[in-house]
Parts: sequence; C-alpha cells; structure tokens
Amino acid sequence: MILIDGKRTANEIVEELKPRTAAFEQKYGKKAGLAVVLIGNDPASAVYVRNKIKKCAEAGIASFPHYLPAETSQKEAEELLEALAADSSVHGILVQLPLPAHLNADRILAKIPAHKDVDGFCAENMGKLALKEEGCVACTPLGVTELFKRYGIQTAGKRAVVLGRSNIVGKPMALLLLNADATVTVCHSRTQNLKEECARADILVAAIGKPRFVTADMVKAGAAVIDVGINRLADGTLCGDVDFKAVKEKAAYLTPVPGGVGPMTIAMLLANTMRAAERNP
Ligand code: NDP
Repeated sequence: MILIDGKRTANEIVEELKPRTAAFEQKYGKKAGLAVVLIGNDPASAVYVRNKIKKCAEAGIASFPHYLPAETSQKEAEELLEALAADSSVHGILVQLPLPAHLNADRILAKIPAHKDVDGFCAENMGKLALKEEGCVACTPLGVTELFKRYGIQTAGKRAVVLGRSNIVGKPMALLLLNADATVTVCHSRTQNLKEECARADILVAAIGKPRFVTADMVKAGAAVIDVGINRLADGTLCGDVDFKAVKEKAAYLTPVPGGVGPMTIAMLLANTMRAAERNP
C-alpha cells in the first residue's frame, strides 16, 4: 500500500508557488492578496483560519484577516464583503464556514465576485466546472485531483465512487472525476446497496463526516481510497471516514487523517488565490 503524503505534497506545491508570487510582486508592485473573514468563535474555524494565514505568508501571499464578533449583523457582514469585492489589493476572498446561525450565508457569499471566489462555491464557478470551462474549483476536491496526478493514479476509464454529495466536496469531486474521464457514481444517505457500490470502485472518495464508516469489506483490493472526512472523537483525536487500519491492508493507495487531504485543501486555496491574482491583477 502506498500511503499518500498530503502534507509533503502540499509543501511541494507551496514551494512551487514561491517563484510565481515573487514574479507577481515584482511585476505589479504588490503581493497577491487573500482576505479571510471569520465571524464568531468557533474553535475549529479559528484553527483553520490560522493555518491558512500562516501558509499564505510562507508562499508570499498577503493575507487580510477580518475577525468579526459572533453578534455581527447581516448588514455589517455584507458591507465588509462589498468593500473586499471592491478592494484592488484583494484577489481572493474566503469566508470561513460555518457562519453563526442568525446570518444568511448564501446572501453573504453572493457578495463575492466570481473572479475573487477562491473557494469555487459560487454558481458561476460551479457552472464552469460542470461545463468543463476554466474557473475556480473548490479547494478540497481540487486537492484530491492534484494527489491523483502527483501519485500517478489513473482516472480515465476507472470506476470512481464518491461518498457524499455536498456542494463543497462531493458534487465538485464527482464533476472533476467525470471531467477526468472516470465512470462516476455518487452515493449519499438515500443510496441503496451502498456497500456493494463502494466495493466496485477503483477510486473511492469518502466525504460524509462519519468516523471510520468505510470498512475493509467496502473496498476493492487494489483500490485508491481518499479519505476527506475530518471527525473529532470523544477523546479529542481526529479520524477520517475510513477505517484506516483495516483498509490499508486492502487498498493500493490510501490517505491518512490528519496529513492527507487537509493540507492539500490549504495548498489549493493558495494556488487558487495566485491564479485569481494572475488573471485579475
Ligand atoms: P456535509 O455534511 O455537507 O455532507 C455530507 C454528505 O454525506 C451528504 O451528501 C450526506 O448525504 C452524506 N452522508 C451522510 N451520512 C451518510 C451515510 N450514512 N451514508 C451515505 N451518505 C451519507 O459534509 P461535507 O461534504 O461538508 O464534509 C464531509 C466531510 O469532509 C466532513 O467530515 C468534513 O469535516 C470533511 N471536510 C474535510 C475537508 C478537508 O480539507 N479535508 C474540507 C471539507 C470537509 P445527504 O446529501 O443525503 O444528506
């Protein structure tokens, strides 16, 4: 079994970005810039935001953090997004989800113009992905695709199963695999014979948020298994959606949690920001 090292691959991507960020700064007299908006006190979100800002600095991308209190009003949040949309030093905007329950996330996210939507969540970017046109693709599934490329995992003609159909992971993942010529099945909470569907997959991507849901009997021998899930257990440790210990005896490729898809998500955020800056300096 080949253990896919997302941390190392993500570091390689950051190294590869450095000459591009430097060239951009030299050409335009400013750095590529990412605005990061965090509203409220969710501890996990605070950790993610800190990591993203740290990695921006490492890659030579300017970050503009905006930490707003949990009681921020819809109007205040929308006004901040409007200002960031108009700010020429900001090339990418990220709103850390989830937002506090009283806020309408859709209306806030709708303030991000498509060319600054480095998370690739907006209708225009999702539509472009569906049409196989160039746009900005959601960071997590894009990171998974990058792992396929860098580990030489063939997708064309392969049977791929995506577990989960969320707008931020499952759906764009399925579209990316389809665009990469895989034969794609998407499974969700209403899928029948889910075990059998998974067991037929040459490539299995698990993104459902259920600890160790994917057991060895759901994995075809020699499959590539990508674990997107991040679940915090009662003892405080993290685990994925895949039963790592059992599945590693059967899979040909497997990502660990942590250290698999997570670091790739951040690397793709930086890559998307750089691309957004190069397209609209
Ligand atoms: P969502 O909760 O938005 O979606 C979960 C999906 O899984 C839904 O489509 C749901 O089906 C499906 N599902 C849930 N339970 C089952 C089940 N028992 N059987 C089959 N399908 C099921 O989650 P996200 O897509 O946002 O995230 C998924 C996981 O990935 C989480 O653990 C999250 O923390 C992690 N994640 C990791 C990232 C990273 O950087 N590594 C980034 C983003 C997320 P239905 O649609 O029918 O409800």
